Amino acid sequence: MAVTMTRTCDFPMGRGSVCPNDAPHRIELTADDIVYSVDVCDEHKQEVIDSVREAFNFRPTASWVNGMRRNAHIAASGKVFTTAEARAWAIEQGLTVGRAQGRLAKSHIDLYAASH
Ligand SMILES: [Zn+2]
Repeated sequence: MAVTMTRTCDFPMGRGSVCPNDAPHRIELTADDIVYSVDVCDEHKQEVIDSVREAFNFRPTASWVNGMRRNAHIAASGKVFTTAEARAWAIEQGLTVGRAQGRLAKSHIDLYAASH
């Protein structure tokens, strides 16, 4: 039997209350092997991410791709991309890339970042 768990948004709305919306997203922060988490609704997800990034200079460093942790980078436009995306683009551009899957020279990653 399938069990559906519904979480509620943890976003503070002032005076001790929180947002009443369903929270399909969980945002986690890991420090010293402790994972801190907050559940958020569609509306508050980006607000939480943006405020943490701006306040503490957090930046994307990893991305989960098919259950595997991959390096992530940030492009000039602010878009987050993986090494695999940059590698596919580099091949499309006719640049020479190494044979190893999931690896790419930093100069190619910097090129991708600058043009996206
Ligand atoms: Zn919310």
